[in-house]
Amino acid sequence: MTAALIDGRAAAERLRQRIAVRTAELSATHSLVPGLAVVLVGEDPASQVYVASKTKQALASGLRHFDHRLPATTSTAALIALVQTLNAQADVHGILVQLPLPANVDSAAVLAAIDPAKDVDGFHAMNAGRLALGQETTVPCTPLGCLILIREVMDDLAGKRAVVVGRSNIVGKPMAQLLLQKDCTVTMAHSRTRDLPQLCREAEILVAAIGRPKVIAGDWIRPGAIVIDVGINRITGSDGKSKLTGDVDFDAALEHAGAITPVPGGVGPMTIACLLLNTVNAAIRSRLGRNAPLLHTFSAPHHPH
Ligand code: NAP
Repeated sequence: MTAALIDGRAAAERLRQRIAVRTAELSATHSLVPGLAVVLVGEDPASQVYVASKTKQALASGLRHFDHRLPATTSTAALIALVQTLNAQADVHGILVQLPLPANVDSAAVLAAIDPAKDVDGFHAMNAGRLALGQETTVPCTPLGCLILIREVMDDLAGKRAVVVGRSNIVGKPMAQLLLQKDCTVTMAHSRTRDLPQLCREAEILVAAIGRPKVIAGDWIRPGAIVIDVGINRITGSDGKSKLTGDVDFDAALEHAGAITPVPGGVGPMTIACLLLNTVNAAIRSRLGRNAPLLHTFSAPHHPH
């Protein structure tokens, strides 16, 4: 078997087109331009690349963009003061504080200061709690992008056996919540999981969010499974050049999976597109109310408890 490739770049482009259409409508009918404020502290090169990409795509999709760059010496109090200013700014609908923050900053305190209605990363405890309760909320961008990619190749997820490897608050846990909402039977695995290969072999949907290159071997994959590789790892290739690779042994996985995301070009492009999606929806909720039709809503589970 040779797996089908799930093209994250193409899916992200389609999503950005829908965002641009909705943004143009909001501007024409409500004079509403969704605004995204991005806060970057320090000089981390990877963060600078991410922020440049977010800025470019936000502007291309018709969003308003507010750039806040602060030195690495910025205090927690000064950062919280900036967040509070952005919370009060009417033309800012989404606030993104680029992580990681410098070690001298209390990241948890800064993230907690963001108004949950403007928390377009979906990291605030209020939004994480709403997701866990199965309520409509802002979902973290990366797992939201993963779910959209899964649904590109599988429409009805009900009853499917899903395994999520990795339990971070930004990827693994919200991913498991989303799959549960879609009526999958979900298992979460982590570094202390026993017999990970056998567990993975049960998965009809396998999401790897580990951060270690090629942990998931080809023969860990159930024949025909959907494999979503969130990992972004920089390794030195056989030619001595630096390159990106995922958490899955991609070449080996191609022989087993039914469909798989490549790295790069899989989950990564969807993350930024989902950030724009979350910002547009935050703007819609703030101006038109929580019941206004959103762009791509994930509904509550069929049988809430
Ligand atoms: P993280 O916070 O470091 O979490 C990694 C998780 O993997 C932890 O739960 C850890 O278990 C588990 N783990 C580590 N080694 C393992 C092993 N050998 N077997 C099983 N589980 C293992 O990482 P993250 O923030 O979730 O990110 C994960 C990866 O996704 C990284 O490569 C990151 O760069 C990438 N990422 C990509 C995007 C994107 O846009 N594509 C966005 C976010 C993150 P414990 O909890 O037991 O330690």
